[in-house]
Amino acid sequence: MSTTDSPTFDGIFDTEVVGRWQAPGRVNLIGEHTDYNDGFVLPLAIDRATTITVGRRNDRLLRASSSFEPGVVHEASLDALDPATLDGWSAYVFGIAWALAKKLPEVTTSDDVAIDLSEAFGLDIFVDSDVPVGAGLSSSAAIECSVAVAMADLWNLDVTRPFLASVGQYSENHAVGAPTGIMDQSASLLGRADSAVFLDCRSLDAEVIDLGFAPASLELLVIDTRVEHAHATGGYVERRASCEKGAAALGVTSLRDLDVSDLERAESLLDDETYRRVRHVITENQRVLDTVRTLRESGPGAIGALLDASHVSMRDDFEISVPELDLAVSTAQSTGAVGARMTGGGFGGAAIALVPSDSRETVTAAVLEAFAAAGYREPTIFAVHAADGAHRLEG
Ligand code: ADP
Ligand code: MG
Repeated sequence: MSTTDSPTFDGIFDTEVVGRWQAPGRVNLIGEHTDYNDGFVLPLAIDRATTITVGRRNDRLLRASSSFEPGVVHEASLDALDPATLDGWSAYVFGIAWALAKKLPEVTTSDDVAIDLSEAFGLDIFVDSDVPVGAGLSSSAAIECSVAVAMADLWNLDVTRPFLASVGQYSENHAVGAPTGIMDQSASLLGRADSAVFLDCRSLDAEVIDLGFAPASLELLVIDTRVEHAHATGGYVERRASCEKGAAALGVTSLRDLDVSDLERAESLLDDETYRRVRHVITENQRVLDTVRTLRESGPGAIGALLDASHVSMRDDFEISVPELDLAVSTAQSTGAVGARMTGGGFGGAAIALVPSDSRETVTAAVLEAFAAAGYREPTIFAVHAADGAHRLEG
């Protein structure tokens, strides 16, 4: 294949296309490492998405190919779905079918939520995406949610979007093996244009919150440092363990059960490191609530200090920032951003900066210059806009 040829469905599969589905990546406006602590998050679906083109097969095979790995076709049978045999990125696709057919005791008390896939037909799935991988914008949820809505539509499944979010999370946890929360899938499935999704990760109640960025002439810049993060193996697992340790020592099921009035007790009972981890989660939950209230009462121009404080907490208390993220944030803050913070799991990935539209170029140029002066790899900087969640494409 020449380098100018992009792979397409037709170049790989010979079944008839029955539809195309799209699911967005997301950025988290605020609420970091709060999801697995049963807390609050405020992500938005973005105008970067995974698009899948799907063909219907007459057998029970699932096949998947991606522009991400041109020419390679992965295969799995609906009659023998087993996470142990799923290869590489195809686990993000086939894992959804596997998770649909599982009972999901974690997300429901009902016994009969396992979806019956005995009548389901096979699918050819071609995956294409403009969500950068590993930048903290959840290319993983974009792929999972595009597949989940396509399967639900094509197999006529009577399921809700919150249920599909749980299926995506279950698949990512058990088929892929990444211990992530439910935020990414919820944003990708429930997002709305110029809005964020305020999610209570304990009750799974989700509320769409008007951001009002466009009318306020504000834009959200993503500064992808291109420093790679490793979710499943990195400090993420350690941070999760610290949170569990802190909750156990403080006698609660999860850190969600604590608020800022518990900080003094936490400080007296915990070692310094665990205390700082716990303080991040407690104060970050409060910042999410404050951001929602501020958006409603005063509009988006007033949330900058909350974004800034979130970054400080991740840098100093949770210790998941890296020098590149700190530089992106401080440079944006000093050149016109309303507020800025690292976003995503940490240890690399992206920062976000809320900027007046007319400062966008100044901030972008300043960050590029600061990175060059520091000898860091050139970051990728682009604006994102809050977009609608997963949907079937017309035509
Ligand atoms: P992110 O922060 O982007 O979600 P993850 O490590 O959670 O990072 O997920 C990235 C992984 O998702 C990739 O390594 C790949 O396995 C899978 N993935 C994402 N987008 C695609 C795609 N377009 N085609 C195939 N696999 C993809
Ligand atoms: Mg991911």
